[in-house]
Amino acid sequence: MQLRQFFGALLAVAGAFTILVPATARAAEPNASAVSYATASDPEILLLDAREAARGLMVSHLTIPVRPGTFTFVYPEWIPGEHGPTGPLENITEMRVSANGHALHWERDQVDMYAFHVRVPQGVSRIDVDFHVALNAPDAMSTKNVAIVNWNRMLFYQNGTASKDDFFKVSLDLPHAWGYGTALPGPTQHGDRVDFGVAALNLLVDSPLDMGRYYRHVTLWSGDGTEQVLDAFADAPQDLDFPSSLIDAYENMMPEALALYGSRHWNVYHSLLTLSDAIGFEGIEHHQSSDNRAPADFMTNPVWQLTAGDLLTHEFSHSWNGKYRRPFDLWQPNFQIPEHTELLWVYEGMNQYLGDLLSFRMGIRAPSKYPEYLASIYARMDAESGREATPLIDLTTGAPYYYAARGPWSNLRRTAGDFYTEGELIWLDADTIIREDSHGHKSLDDFLHLYSAPALTGPITKPYTRAEIEHLLGDVQPYDWHAFFERYVYSVSPHPPNDDLARAGWRLVWNEHPNEFIAARDRARHTDDESFGVGLFTDDRGKILGVTQGSAAWNAGLGPDMTILAVGGQTFSPEALHYLLRETEHASGSIPFVVEQNGWVNTYEVSYHGGLRYPHLERIPGTPDMLAQIMAPHRAK
Ligand SMILES: [Zn+2]
Repeated sequence: MQLRQFFGALLAVAGAFTILVPATARAAEPNASAVSYATASDPEILLLDAREAARGLMVSHLTIPVRPGTFTFVYPEWIPGEHGPTGPLENITEMRVSANGHALHWERDQVDMYAFHVRVPQGVSRIDVDFHVALNAPDAMSTKNVAIVNWNRMLFYQNGTASKDDFFKVSLDLPHAWGYGTALPGPTQHGDRVDFGVAALNLLVDSPLDMGRYYRHVTLWSGDGTEQVLDAFADAPQDLDFPSSLIDAYENMMPEALALYGSRHWNVYHSLLTLSDAIGFEGIEHHQSSDNRAPADFMTNPVWQLTAGDLLTHEFSHSWNGKYRRPFDLWQPNFQIPEHTELLWVYEGMNQYLGDLLSFRMGIRAPSKYPEYLASIYARMDAESGREATPLIDLTTGAPYYYAARGPWSNLRRTAGDFYTEGELIWLDADTIIREDSHGHKSLDDFLHLYSAPALTGPITKPYTRAEIEHLLGDVQPYDWHAFFERYVYSVSPHPPNDDLARAGWRLVWNEHPNEFIAARDRARHTDDESFGVGLFTDDRGKILGVTQGSAAWNAGLGPDMTILAVGGQTFSPEALHYLLRETEHASGSIPFVVEQNGWVNTYEVSYHGGLRYPHLERIPGTPDMLAQIMAPHRAK
């Protein structure tokens, strides 16, 4: 009641154009049947003033074609590649709506928080919507020297239209002397102003833009009249001093992808990369580009290429698997209609395998290291206790919520990351089945050629169903693929696929030698992973991040968010813990852990005599090494 009166007072000032929208007004169920007023010849205008990017603000000026009467505009909610209703509504600040210079009253929908209603007066054919975009919540998108533009964060569009029929004309004001990179077509630059050609909304949202003070453009591949470019932007110029050997490896990305898929579905491709410790680690795929975000020393510190060298390859592979081929119900005609995510075990699960595979085939990571990598992910998935209750299909169907889940006990709850990592194990299993049953004549590469045919199209989307995936696999190699996925995806599966290791000529072994990938991840993240032995995952200052169910640490009563102050009488450090675990392997008795929790200090007696314990793969003598065949370079010489 009070708010109502407040708006009434505002209206008196605003002038004759403003009429209160009835309180009952609300958006209809999301649909895409409305005729778009923003056409190719009369597009919606977006002028993005990015000159204040360094302090986390941009200003968006929209001019939206309208018709008189009630008009509803919406903020994109379901964001492709993010697989959830993640459009950051809280980024919109100081929104003002006007027509011909007169303020218009706007009202948020009572049910759909992403929809806004205005009453458009007679004689008005376009409205202006101006707002500040806060860039750094919930995730960091700008720093002093770098900024990322995801256009869906910067605009509204007419409710109920199909995004392929909603046209935009975009201009951008860069901070002075900053460079930019994007796959958005038709840029022309005059000073710090960049104007783009008219683009449909789906292409615009699919074409993010990176900008920054320090930048480097590297042509990784060119041919067929097109090219793949790395557009890198860094917080500090020295982070752009990439070793030439690493660029050599990245130049193999397109040749290896061509060998893998036998096709291309982009006109030009930009691997956008921000190098900043203030911007989180992230990768978002698009048809003709990818929005990759990595730590400042990602390209200069080899530990990052070892632990996360699949960042750019994973997103590149998505151009084929995810953008061109997409689950039939994940694709939606606009950004308000909910995506269905259950087939992410193909979209993300297979892509995790292919992104890793490309990184090894390209030489970003030595192909000989794949068995060690495989041991690390197999052991991690197998140790996850939540898998005894929760099938993979629940993780993909519930993906929007699993992606957002935070806090301890992720090994019990399971995580969105599981359908990536376990997906890799499932698709590797499928690859080894095809190779064995075809006596080495066929592989998953043959499936991918069928899957991504024809050889050349522009950035279009061809949807698929589970049945089609199983059918295509059967065309490559007859097998009961339906039962295969039923077992590993659609049912509780107490273990990941575990016959592929033997089929590939390898077996899992445990010893006290650190796994190279687990150790590298610990170095990069300042953690200590003893999940497979005593059952503790901590940071290097003793804060417990995870406890393995059924382990000695679990049995002693330890849990996440406790901090280990001392072990065996010594102040905690990973080195002190390792020493103690080695020393007590053949001793009796328990190890005292002095632990602080919420201001209380207690001693927990951990009865453990298993020593240090890490996973590795070892060759089965006399068998062919299928992993070496899979990870060997496949590109044309
Ligand atoms: Zn992905």
